Amino acid sequence: MTRFSPFEDTLWYATAPAAPETPRLQGRETADVCVVGGGYSGLTTALELARKGVSVVLLERMELGFGGSGRNAGHCTPTFTHYSLPDLRRVLGAPWAERLIHRQTRANDRVAEMVARYGIDCEWEQNGYIQGALFPSHIKVMEARCRDYNAVGARTRMLDRAEAEAITGSPRFYGGWLHEEAGGLNALAYARGLGRAVLSEGGRIFTRSGVTGCTRLDGKWRLRSDEGEVLAEKVIFTTGAYTVGGWPQLEQTFRIMRVFVAATQPLSAESQAACLPRRTTIQDGRGDIYVYKYNRENRIVASMFPMGRRGRDMAHTRQVLSDRLKWLHPGVRETLDWQFFWMGELDMQRLTVPRLYGLAPGVVALTGLSGRGVPTGSMLGGILSEWALDVPERDLSLRIEPLSTQPRYMSFAPQMALCGYRLRDDLRALIQRAPLPPHA
Ligand SMILES: Cc1cc2nc3c(=O)[nH]c(=O)nc-3n(C[C@H](O)[C@H](O)[C@H](O)COP(=O)(O)OP(=O)(O)OC[C@H]3O[C@@H](n4cnc5c(N)ncnc54)[C@H](O)[C@@H]3O)c2cc1C
Repeated sequence: MTRFSPFEDTLWYATAPAAPETPRLQGRETADVCVVGGGYSGLTTALELARKGVSVVLLERMELGFGGSGRNAGHCTPTFTHYSLPDLRRVLGAPWAERLIHRQTRANDRVAEMVARYGIDCEWEQNGYIQGALFPSHIKVMEARCRDYNAVGARTRMLDRAEAEAITGSPRFYGGWLHEEAGGLNALAYARGLGRAVLSEGGRIFTRSGVTGCTRLDGKWRLRSDEGEVLAEKVIFTTGAYTVGGWPQLEQTFRIMRVFVAATQPLSAESQAACLPRRTTIQDGRGDIYVYKYNRENRIVASMFPMGRRGRDMAHTRQVLSDRLKWLHPGVRETLDWQFFWMGELDMQRLTVPRLYGLAPGVVALTGLSGRGVPTGSMLGGILSEWALDVPERDLSLRIEPLSTQPRYMSFAPQMALCGYRLRDDLRALIQRAPLPPHA
């Protein structure tokens, strides 16, 4: 198993409640709908369907949350990455953009509802997300974003310098944008909790049961795994960046980009007062992102993209993580010990919005969450279950399109874009006489 990064290294693996008991698929099962993939997208789809009394089987190749859903950084910010809302409207057109915007911006209501209804113990906290402004011109961009999101019903607001410092504990920001509805969680605990919820609603889950093929048999779809098979009327692939087989060319609908996450020791009360005293999630405002939040034990959980030595040379990577945090929060004086470090894979594609592919009559697939999958995967269950419940295609919130593969350049274009953002931010800081963080 060298293709994906190790799963057991994550903080969440060490701290999540145990997974529900789920057997390996053996013999034949029949169902109305077979969902392939035990991440948030698959689990919330199976949950919606089971809740409505539909007979549903979910097949997972490894264990629940093995993909991005068990190893992400745990930020749940119901916005879009890369696209502003006006850009998204241009790209998707009517009525698709508005429907997707509605689903995505209300995604955290769904997370909160599922966590409360099924008593999911996953460190869910809705303390908001801040994007800091590290140079003055950033404020204008944020003001536009604030207006756009508030116009569609989100609860966001601008922060002036003093309030940004009061909420983040950092004196570095010229201001910021606060999204009050954003939250954070223990990624794997949430995935496992969703699994328990599916079982409680009568859904069936089989793990260590990778789908190796999907063909027609007696007017149904027959999904084979090593030791068993499922006969179903409809099939939904939600195998994301961790897709292994299942359907021809599904693995070509995205290209992999790696991202890493690290977690410190639990911080002292003094450090906590100086760093995110209100336990918000924060993005430090640079295009080459540094995003962090606390977990339940008061560890800082931070993520960045690998670049140059960062992510490859561990001593250097720990130094970068510590220097950046201490530069942002000079009041953090204790030595930072990055006790957990793990990597994960993102399913990058040119449009950084989920794509719903019609593979055959009665079979769809969804990939390409491109890194904003906690809220997105959580709301997708609503859309995919509607498809399975025969809501007409024209009324869905995602357009069904033919499978399309990603160009080769997508294997390196996101990394190059990141270098470009970094250079752009350095130039802006220079021109606007704003201080640069270490290792910028
Ligand atoms: C390190 C990292 C940090 C991230 N941080 C954040 C964050 O803070 N906030 C955020 O919003 N997003 C974040 N993301 C993105 C987010 O985690 C993902 O977009 C999201 O979890 C994808 O969910 P999914 O259900 O679509 O796919 P996945 O969670 O990847 O699940 C797909 C599942 O399908 C299974 N599978 C594959 N092939 C088969 C097969 N043939 N048969 C059966 N099963 C199969 C896999 O084993 C896997 O479990 C991060 C991602 C990573 C990797």
